[in-house]
Amino acid sequence: MSNIVLQLSPEIQNQVKTFYASSRVERNAPGVIFAAKLPDTAITIYKSGKVMFQGIGAKREASRWGEVKMKTVTSNHTNQTIQTIQTKGDTLPEHFSTMSVIGSDETGTGDYFGPITVAAVYVPKDKIELITELGVKDSKMLNDCIMRKIAPDIMSVCTYSILTLRNDKYNTLQGKGYSQGKIKALLHNQAIKHVLSKMDPEKPDYILIDQFAERSIYYNHIKNEKEIVREKVLFSTKAEQLHIAVAAASILARYAFLKEMDRLSEIVGFDLQKGASGKVDEMAARIWLEQGQDTLKSITKWHFANTEKAKKLIEKKR
Ligand code: MN
Repeated sequence: MSNIVLQLSPEIQNQVKTFYASSRVERNAPGVIFAAKLPDTAITIYKSGKVMFQGIGAKREASRWGEVKMKTVTSNHTNQTIQTIQTKGDTLPEHFSTMSVIGSDETGTGDYFGPITVAAVYVPKDKIELITELGVKDSKMLNDCIMRKIAPDIMSVCTYSILTLRNDKYNTLQGKGYSQGKIKALLHNQAIKHVLSKMDPEKPDYILIDQFAERSIYYNHIKNEKEIVREKVLFSTKAEQLHIAVAAASILARYAFLKEMDRLSEIVGFDLQKGASGKVDEMAARIWLEQGQDTLKSITKWHFANTEKAKKLIEKKR
């Protein structure tokens, strides 16, 4: 039986409560402020901010709220493995989720077909309620179809910037030695810069980047840029859960990704598979054979292992 304890911020604790509200149970144990029971997992929130997940579904449920890390604690008699989850990154100011924030997030980095997209969105505090009512929440809880519907609403209400890095440009940058981290950092900086200039002279309380690299690495990647946004920039993993602006950005990034996938699917004549699975290899082999290497290269992240795997599939057929 798995037992995971997380230390979570009051804001995330509230989200945990809302998320499991329909499975709530009464527990009068000391220090317990909330308890819920799923068929395979019990969730308990303590006054201390510790949140415990018990049962065979513990890891699945705990992963919704942070990254699972393993650490082995050696005591006198036993080797005990404790899993802790926490969001990595900056400590956010109190009541952060109620502030006026620019959020930014990216998508497409793990997909063989299609672009990398980055979006930044400004959600001022007086629009948080409206954006919530539009159905904006952690994109992991939404499907593509819903995100396609919500995205135009966000765009009509908020100041935003969306950047789509198409495959030809991506492959050129990658060929010059740019890592994905560097490409992402450049795009985030640019998108945030666009939003700041569009909303000028208004200023956000903070800017929150869904963390893909430590602060020092991020700024090292963009050190040669003309304009570098540094003021009030915070980094956190799981940032979608910390401010709705990041959730909105995530939805816009996904929307732009889907639009570009639609365009590429039109070019090849069928729906392109997302991700980087074996199905993707087969599809790549088919495009390679039927439409040539140049076409395939122009719609993929060419350096991914899928290219080699598709090549092997073709060789087998010959
Ligand atoms: Mn992200």
